[in-house]
Amino acid sequence: MNNNVEEIKSRLNIVDIVGEYVRLNKAGSHWKGLCPFHHEKSPSFMVNEEKQIFHCFGCAKGGDVFSFVQEIESMEFREVLKILAEKAGVQLEEYKGGQPKDNKKRLLEALELATKFYETQLWKGVGKGKIMQYLHERGINDDSIREFRLGYAPGGWDNILKFLSERGYSLNEIEKTGLLVKKENGAGMYDRFRDRIMFPIMDIMGNVIGYSARVAPGGDESQAKYVNTPETIVYHKGKALYGLSLSKSDIKKKNYVLLVEGNLDVIASHQAGLKNTVAVSGTALTGDQITMIKRYTENIAMLFDMDNAGQQAAQKSTDLCLQKGMNVKIVTLKEGKDAADVAQKNPELLLDAVRKSVLAMEYFFNEALNKYDKRSADGKMHIAKDVLAHVVNIESPIEKAHWIKKIAHEVDVEEKVINDVLKTVSSSVGQQSQSFSPKQSDILAEQTSSFQKRSDIVRDSLVGLIMSNQNIWKEIFEKDSQSDWVKQDALVQFVLKNGAKANFLFDNFLATIEDERAIERLRKIYFGAKYFFTREGVTEYSDEQLRELVGEHITQYVKGLQKERLHDIIRGIESAEQKGDKETLAKLMSEFTRLSQEMQ
Ligand SMILES: [Zn+2]
Repeated sequence: MNNNVEEIKSRLNIVDIVGEYVRLNKAGSHWKGLCPFHHEKSPSFMVNEEKQIFHCFGCAKGGDVFSFVQEIESMEFREVLKILAEKAGVQLEEYKGGQPKDNKKRLLEALELATKFYETQLWKGVGKGKIMQYLHERGINDDSIREFRLGYAPGGWDNILKFLSERGYSLNEIEKTGLLVKKENGAGMYDRFRDRIMFPIMDIMGNVIGYSARVAPGGDESQAKYVNTPETIVYHKGKALYGLSLSKSDIKKKNYVLLVEGNLDVIASHQAGLKNTVAVSGTALTGDQITMIKRYTENIAMLFDMDNAGQQAAQKSTDLCLQKGMNVKIVTLKEGKDAADVAQKNPELLLDAVRKSVLAMEYFFNEALNKYDKRSADGKMHIAKDVLAHVVNIESPIEKAHWIKKIAHEVDVEEKVINDVLKTVSSSVGQQSQSFSPKQSDILAEQTSSFQKRSDIVRDSLVGLIMSNQNIWKEIFEKDSQSDWVKQDALVQFVLKNGAKANFLFDNFLATIEDERAIERLRKIYFGAKYFFTREGVTEYSDEQLRELVGEHITQYVKGLQKERLHDIIRGIESAEQKGDKETLAKLMSEFTRLSQEMQ
């Protein structure tokens, strides 16, 4: 597909494509309009026809025609590629090693057929009576049943096996859908989902990728209440969010997502008018899921079951969200055990509860104040510790300081004391790991963590500058591949090595990457470094300017790394001193001397 991207770009005009979404007027060398990505009254969104790029002075979004469609349609890069290829009349070459892609396509087709089968069983088949009745009793209406594509897997060992076999799928293929289970004696397979209500789980585009299946009313209650599709080529439970394909536009519109626990909660919330609701299915909220949500909004409201397990899950998810820099609110229900339950009684109660949601930190504060006596020394300590266990996750230092101040005020002790306590508190979800593991997705996954180091920021713009120019990219590759500063960082290494494979052309380089988030992140870094947008026009660096700039960045980056190392050493020295560990102390002291000399 290497040449596809260039070919598509050459046949399309970004002004036309953007013009489908934004009313543009010619202004000097740019086209100008109201930004579709943030709310504004006077236009700060520019499109440059000559360079085929866009930029917003208000929200700093920018990129090429691919970035634009990707952002506005909330699509993945490969989907945008398909759509724009069609528009441009470009026949996409099949991916190299097209076999796995074909497999994936066939697998999705099988799942689509299976979903239709389950739907038919519910609407016209054996599920028509009792299952429909059960869903209606739970307050789910026919529109929702259709929209969420609920179905019924009848009892029996080989319904779906037969159904898909008859439609030309091999046993091996059907097994890959996750719809089958191997017999214990190893000979043959049988249906995983028997006598269960089927909730299809869809990807962002609405393709069914798996199921969450609830035991049917009056069914074998000795079995698990919910059975989910295991991990398959298309279904990764840590990356799926139930209801997202149906909620994404409302999440964007309302600029927050409501996170609930179960499938029925999602459906009930949608029915109540909260169409910006999603759920994790059969797992705790993951970092990957938060990254997905962040494509639409930075704001999340959590409505978990009111039992102990639910509230604990809410706290854990909140901490993870705080680490990822999200704004979190907590919704509590005065009566009823979960969203579905409340909405069934009265949808207005659910809406009201969401309206009355409080900031997560306020919520934790109130919990602690209710639990302990803030006048006793012991109570003060407990309150501080409980609240700080969450404060420690907050990304913004300013916000962190705000809460520390508030705790100090509330329990009437000095801020310094609270800060000392903070050092002893550890997060319930653990800190983000800073070390890069060699997996592609990890190397390139966006480091939104609170603990992004200064050197990471310098590194990102350095990498952007390098990628922005074929000659420079090649030069750095030839000159610096073996340098210490390259070897110390997996991202830099990756960009140099794979750049060489792509003849140091950015579009080609992206085509070598599978991971969507990595593509997104690299595009951001690239466009941030390559162009300078001014109101008058777009400028790029000359080779000479760029060479100089890259040199400065490298120096700065290396210095940053040394400084961080020095910091670590100092911290190590302090702790070795406290422990009286003389051996470590001596080692660190000599390293300290060596490094500080090096830095002069
Ligand atoms: Zn904007």
